[in-house]
Amino acid sequence: MAAATALGGLAGCGESGRSAPGAGTGGHAEAGREGSGAVRQEQQQARHGFTLVATGDLLVHDSIIRQAKADAGGSGYEFGRMISAAKPMASGADLAICHMETVYGPDGGPFSGYPLFETPPHLAASVKKAGYDSCSTASNHTLDAGSKGVGRTLKAMGAAGLRHVGSARNPKEAAAPVMLRAGGAKVAQLAYTYGTNGIPVPKDKPWLVNLIEPRRIIADARAARRAGADVVVVSMHWGTEWQQEPDALQRSVAKKLTAARSGGRRDIDLILGTHAHVPQAYEKVNGTWVVYGMGDQIAGKMNDPRGTMGSAARFRFEPPDERGGGDAKRNGTGGGAWRVTRAGFTPFLMETSPRHTLVNLAAKGSRAAGNAEREHAYRTIRKAVLSRGAARDGLRMMP
Ligand SMILES: [Zn+2]
Repeated sequence: MAAATALGGLAGCGESGRSAPGAGTGGHAEAGREGSGAVRQEQQQARHGFTLVATGDLLVHDSIIRQAKADAGGSGYEFGRMISAAKPMASGADLAICHMETVYGPDGGPFSGYPLFETPPHLAASVKKAGYDSCSTASNHTLDAGSKGVGRTLKAMGAAGLRHVGSARNPKEAAAPVMLRAGGAKVAQLAYTYGTNGIPVPKDKPWLVNLIEPRRIIADARAARRAGADVVVVSMHWGTEWQQEPDALQRSVAKKLTAARSGGRRDIDLILGTHAHVPQAYEKVNGTWVVYGMGDQIAGKMNDPRGTMGSAARFRFEPPDERGGGDAKRNGTGGGAWRVTRAGFTPFLMETSPRHTLVNLAAKGSRAAGNAEREHAYRTIRKAVLSRGAARDGLRMMP
């Protein structure tokens, strides 16, 4: 097990100024099967494709906590109203993945925003209700409240029915791949972070959080494949804050991960990035989609307006083409690999005034004439997402 170097000091995620405060079901349970038709049903189901949605950092600043408190109407915290614009997309997907950037405080508080985040545990239920299935939890803030913070976060997520990966309470939890059902596929999700803001990972608890180390990530992906994963998705918390361009670490690690093959088949099928607080590009690297950074999904107002802009990544996977052949092998799709048949993105803006609310900028009517902030966000996100030629590889904006 290799430990990557913890980079940087107490990095960003700050909030500027102090702004005033201002539902439904998800779940994609498998249908039960029984009787002699079970095998055939299994075979038929195995041929179904699936849709995957992923979104950026849930960065719970003080102003977000205040909004959640106001939305709860006096008791507790309700984050669902803030992210309700993501609900149709997340609950409509076969698999919806979020990024839980912060750790949770004790049930009764106190809670805090930047710089050492302790988020109300109510967030887990709100995210689940919005339609999310699983979240990455490896971030530079994973150790903000020590191992207790990790424990509280994973406990609350588990209680809400949200799967999680990237941090762990014990070696066993850290070693088990997270396997998710999506359509007829088994999807493994793995998650890693570049570092923990200079807070050392305790020597006796190296399993608390997964750090980026390409050889280890590839080994984990291969282990997930051996455990039966049809598709391996890797969530990466990386990049340089406030920089749209992917940095050297992102580019070099993306190259290594997407180049990894076993028996002609790629080891990793999709990379989903978070952390930079600004929307970053989507790019096909070695034939595999890499989302360098989705930006923030939830965040308070920051000095740079890009901090409240994000994209949702949307991919359709189809089962292997039995015909296979040389092309498939060259593209890393040989040996039974699932293929991405549709790649899309949806631009979102977290408005911070008059209340904190997520807006889908591709939805009909959301960019009504005269709203300069939304129009600016729409253009900024689109430009960033497409800045490395993704449109040529078929990436399309989706409402
Ligand atoms: Zn971060």
